[in-house]
Amino acid sequence: MSASESTTALESEVRSYSRSWPTTFESAVGATVTADDGTTYLDFFAGAGALNYGHNDPRLKQAVIDHFLADRLVHSLDMFTTTRVDFLRTFKSLILEPRGLDYKVMFPGPAGTTATEAALKLARKLTGRTNIVHFTDSFHGMTVGALAVTGSAKKRGGAGVPLSNATVLPYDGYLGDGVDTLDYFERLLADASSGVDRPAGVIVESVQGEGGINVAGLDWLRRLSAICEREGIPLILDDVQMGCGRTGAFFSFEDAGIVPDIVVLSKSISGIGLPMALTLFKREHDVWAPAEHNGTFRGIGPAFASAAETLRLFWSDDTFERATRAKGELADERFRAIVDAYPEAGLSTRGRGLARGLVFPDGAQATAVTTKAFERGLIVETAGAFDEVVKLLPPLTVTDDELERGLAIIAEATAEVLAEAHA
Ligand SMILES: *Cc1c(COP(=O)(O)O)cnc(C)c1O
Repeated sequence: MSASESTTALESEVRSYSRSWPTTFESAVGATVTADDGTTYLDFFAGAGALNYGHNDPRLKQAVIDHFLADRLVHSLDMFTTTRVDFLRTFKSLILEPRGLDYKVMFPGPAGTTATEAALKLARKLTGRTNIVHFTDSFHGMTVGALAVTGSAKKRGGAGVPLSNATVLPYDGYLGDGVDTLDYFERLLADASSGVDRPAGVIVESVQGEGGINVAGLDWLRRLSAICEREGIPLILDDVQMGCGRTGAFFSFEDAGIVPDIVVLSKSISGIGLPMALTLFKREHDVWAPAEHNGTFRGIGPAFASAAETLRLFWSDDTFERATRAKGELADERFRAIVDAYPEAGLSTRGRGLARGLVFPDGAQATAVTTKAFERGLIVETAGAFDEVVKLLPPLTVTDDELERGLAIIAEATAEVLAEAHA
């Protein structure tokens, strides 16, 4: 009996990923995860983007171990600690200053959703308005404020209360190639009878991770940013999943050359998978009163230690960024080859950096591909409204050889699923 079978009666039915990958994992290094029966898997899921630097990087482990051995503070709310100060200084010198970003840093609590909540609160406080514009297929977290700006009907349904103070608009590409969906936003803003309350903010992902690797065009992002600036509406960029180098640059919005008013970061910011989140905002937006937003877990010492070490190791120059872009190109080529190999199957591919989607006509096929991939030793998930997208999210530290192996498994699994579909 697998170790997990004895605990499924105890654990709530709410668990999800353990249903996709029904085995008990024991250890993990880099892009490889080992189960308790000795089976190894390539991990192209990477904690949904929380493990951009892979599992258990020895240098990051050492930073955490050293933190404990020196009896540094593990828990410190928002008191000053040497570890916190070191993180802030490193973040400023390696991330903010080289990019010309004069952001203030807020520790909103340990999760992406807490960082979103802080961003929404701040936008509302800044404007004195309540309505937040978000986009179709968006995902911003599972607490009630974040759910109100999240697309998925299933997730919204879990709220149990009316989700309000939000207006959904079509994301880039939602109405097909020929339509710039921002025409609609501009029209709504210009029309005093549009029925849309003047927004307190706009929240957007530059690539929608949970939504199915939907990529916003860089021109679209620039236009959105320009509209928000012109209209005095704070732009919130949710970089929880696509930040920390996933698309190449540290921030996913750098390629567009925009500077959002508020940025939400979490998932890979600690580097090693420990909980940590940041809400960043332009200096002039720092209207918080002391303790107006709070939280017990805003000073997690080991996370600060590994986060600072991560920045020093991976973000001291552009080597890592260039490597990610190159691996992204490789993945794109392999996915294109799969799409081209089955012209009748209606497949397509999209993505940016090392966030890539292989899009199937329906969720059953994509899910069958990920199931077969798991049988062949690859952990990869589906995304999208109908789970129709095989979502490639390997650690950014994946080697070319590992990447080729994982992509070959997806190609084999696809071949098998399509053969069965046409049998
Ligand atoms: C994962 C995610 C969140 C929520 O983060 P949690 O840590 O799960 O609360 C918010 N926004 C995006 C884009 C995400 O991918």
